[in-house]
Amino acid sequence: MWDILPGIEFASQELHEFDLHPVHSLSLAHRYQLLDWVSAPVRKLLASPLEQYTQDTRSEEKLDFDVYMTIATAKETIADERKCLGNHPPFPPNFDVQPFCSQHNTCKRVWTEKWFFTVVRRIYHPTTPLPLSSIPGVLEDTDHRGMNPECKRSILDWLRDCVHIQKEENLIQETIATVCDLFT
Ligand SMILES: [Zn+2]
Repeated sequence: MWDILPGIEFASQELHEFDLHPVHSLSLAHRYQLLDWVSAPVRKLLASPLEQYTQDTRSEEKLDFDVYMTIATAKETIADERKCLGNHPPFPPNFDVQPFCSQHNTCKRVWTEKWFFTVVRRIYHPTTPLPLSSIPGVLEDTDHRGMNPECKRSILDWLRDCVHIQKEENLIQETIATVCDLFT
C-alpha cells in the first residue's frame, strides 16, 4: 500500500496542476484507479471533435478501443439530440390554449425568432457549444420584448422539466459511469 500511495498522489497533483490532454488524464485515472478524475476528461472529449482524441498524445496514452467506442457512440447520440432540438423551437403541447393570451401569435413569433437567432447559434457553436441543460437559463436571460411575460414563464416552467433538455446531461453521466466500469 505504502509504495502505491506516492504514485496516486503524484497523479492527482499532476492532474490538478496541468492542463492535461483529456486522453492523458483518462490514462492516469485508469492507471491509478482515480475514478473521481474520469468525469472532467470524458466531458471534454464528448465536446471535442474526434480528430482531437489522438492529437498530441503519446502512443501509450491512446484510448482503449472500448473506451473510445463508448465515448464516440455517446457523442453521436448527443449530436443527434442537439440537432433535433436546434431545428425545432420548443413549445409545451398545450401552449396554443394556455395561458390565456390575446396576442399569442406575437408570443410565438418572438419566441421562435429568439430561439433561432440566439439559442441555435450557441447550440451549434463549433468550439464552445452550449450545454442543452443551460438552455432554460439562457432563455430566461434573453430579452423577449413583445412577448407576454406570462407566456414566457409558462414555456420556461415546462422547458426545465423537458426530457429533451435533460437528455444530453443524462447521456454524459451514463457515459462517465460506463467508462468508470471499464476502468475497474
Ligand atoms: Zn402569449
